[in-house]
Amino acid sequence: MGGCFPAGSPMDESRRRAWHALGLGPLWRQRAPDAQSAAASPSVLEAVRPPLSAPATGAGNSATPPVLGAVEAMDWPALRAAVSACRACALSGTRTNTVFGVGDERATWMVVGEAPGAEEDRRGEPFVGNAGRLLDQMLAALDLARGRDVYIANVLKCRPPQNRDPSPDEMERCAPWLRRQIELVAPRVVVVVGRIAAQALLRTEASIASLRGRVHAYPLGERRVPVVATYHPAYLLRNPADKRLAWADLCLARSAHDAQR
Ligand code: SF4
Repeated sequence: MGGCFPAGSPMDESRRRAWHALGLGPLWRQRAPDAQSAAASPSVLEAVRPPLSAPATGAGNSATPPVLGAVEAMDWPALRAAVSACRACALSGTRTNTVFGVGDERATWMVVGEAPGAEEDRRGEPFVGNAGRLLDQMLAALDLARGRDVYIANVLKCRPPQNRDPSPDEMERCAPWLRRQIELVAPRVVVVVGRIAAQALLRTEASIASLRGRVHAYPLGERRVPVVATYHPAYLLRNPADKRLAWADLCLARSAHDAQR
């Protein structure tokens, strides 16, 4: 057995199918990791600038000035209600649904993407459609499943029209919701997918190619949550050759996760 699972660890049929769907055959798994991934170690938690701390809004009312304590004190139902009522940026006027997040609220894994697309906006769930199916296969290859030990959310809770990139102002206003989700889940590792989400979470303008292959840290109180950046599933659908890099990143995330036990 290769990949990021210990030799001799069991592989059930669903994970085997997921590996094949990702193009992760036995020969691929036996390759040496690329130099960048090999150099990466969960012990090397890279300091990043502190994440956004000012909340976008009080409890979803645009007339309410930012009240940091209000967001920090929210439990899941309060947070969900506040996001669904949020009018802190103009995207509230074009959305069909807010896309809050989905999964196990006590998960040890968290996946963070960029923003809802058309299908997500319609259904109110992140990562649906073809990219969502590939994400599910990536999770299955790690022996995870949507709703089982993984929580999935986006940086932005409302869809930007025509799937344009989120603006810095929109991400700034929306950031406290994700921060509170990370606080409540308290994952052992966050996998952030795609350039925009990685740049927003890690507060950097670096490329995804330079951010991947390393373990970053998201400061959360006294904790530093390990963060691993990788390619977005939609990118991987267009560039299947880079699935091997994404798999190396997931293995790195697995190591960072397991080191937090
Ligand atoms: S994108 Fe975020 S900040 Fe803007 S309205 Fe939606 S929930 Fe509020």
